[in-house]
Amino acid sequence: MNECDLAIVGGGMVGSALGYGLARAGAEVVMLDQGDRDLRAARGNFGLLWVQGKGADCPAYAHWTLLSTRLWPSFAEELKQLTGIDVQYQRRGGIHYCLDDRELSDYADELARQAAVSDGAFQYQMLDARELQAFEPNLAPDLPGGGYSPNDGHVNPLFLLRALQAGFVTHGGSYRPRHSVQSIERLADGFLLQTEQGELRAGKVILAAGLDNQRLAPMLGLQQPLHPQRGQLLITERLPPLLKYPSIYLRQTGEGTIQIGDSAENSGLDDSNTVTVMAELAARAIRLLPALRQRRIVRGWGALRVLSPDGYPLYDRSAEAGPQAFAFSCHSGVTLAAAHALQLAPMLLQGELDSSLSAFCPRRFQD
Ligand SMILES: Cc1cc2nc3c(=O)[nH]c(=O)nc-3n(C[C@H](O)[C@H](O)[C@H](O)COP(=O)(O)OP(=O)(O)OC[C@H]3O[C@@H](n4cnc5c(N)ncnc54)[C@H](O)[C@@H]3O)c2cc1C
Repeated sequence: MNECDLAIVGGGMVGSALGYGLARAGAEVVMLDQGDRDLRAARGNFGLLWVQGKGADCPAYAHWTLLSTRLWPSFAEELKQLTGIDVQYQRRGGIHYCLDDRELSDYADELARQAAVSDGAFQYQMLDARELQAFEPNLAPDLPGGGYSPNDGHVNPLFLLRALQAGFVTHGGSYRPRHSVQSIERLADGFLLQTEQGELRAGKVILAAGLDNQRLAPMLGLQQPLHPQRGQLLITERLPPLLKYPSIYLRQTGEGTIQIGDSAENSGLDDSNTVTVMAELAARAIRLLPALRQRRIVRGWGALRVLSPDGYPLYDRSAEAGPQAFAFSCHSGVTLAAAHALQLAPMLLQGELDSSLSAFCPRRFQD
């Protein structure tokens, strides 16, 4: 029978970052993943390393996000040196465009609360219409304003996933696609995983299977209450520079294409894209950036967000199985990839989650 010290279930953004960090620290890790047609937010996201709006009501989340963005510059460089893959990390700051005066005033309140809970580490500036134009001269002149933060940035998320998995393998990890895990049984000295390619015995298990964590977690005495939320994205042909800063609605990629988001729908496990939402996204993009009017859309897709009931991460260790089993789910897995690889993975080797992460324990929903 196949055996390993540690098995990670899921090779998406969370599993690959954790796997990279664990293998980098010398652990012997097998990462079991599914195939191309399965649900995978890691391959359908927007690529933002986003801080604005994160944690105004949850200081632990504000701090964790900021910590990750502080780790990002050296993390991107490390991945490049190790794998030769440039993840196109950029941190010039980001802008959230507000679409009306009410949103602008509510947003100013939210960012003020976020700055207050982040002990000055979160920096931002509210922009009026004139200032927004000065930051981004190609935006429509009638937008009321927005928020700018120098903490925000972006990457190419597909290159990131590739770099994490290549780095994982370079550090000695074993990546096994088409090994969907059907069930996990607890044994006296570890776990027995039934995969589509047969059995695997592991001393420790880390669940990072995105939405499937909800099904797998109870097999380890854990809970991961999750729901899917569909987001649809569009991408244009390559264009000359039009935008200096990323936003949640528009970002110009390293190749010059403009990526257009963002939508939020309750569609169950259906990750297809629809003409209605694509038309709405395109109309809003032209409203924000009129130069897009005559430009071609070359691709569109849908992907499912991995969301907890309050939108914050779910990090847990099995109380019953001791330090041998953990489960991790989160939205913003791109932003948090550096913290997952460089901070969270070493904690797993120690067998304990740091108390600064206790706010993310899923038992918060039982109180
Ligand atoms: C439209 C959209 C836009 C987004 N934009 C951003 C953004 O700009 N910035 C940001 O930080 N985050 C963004 N996100 C969120 C980010 O993509 C997710 O937080 C992240 O991908 C979650 O990582 P994950 O590994 O938990 O899940 P996934 O990335 O979905 O990966 C789960 C993996 O586990 C595998 N798997 C599932 N079940 C099993 C099983 N039983 N056995 C083996 N393997 C299994 C899957 O095949 C998959 O490879 C966005 C998400 C969406 C949908």
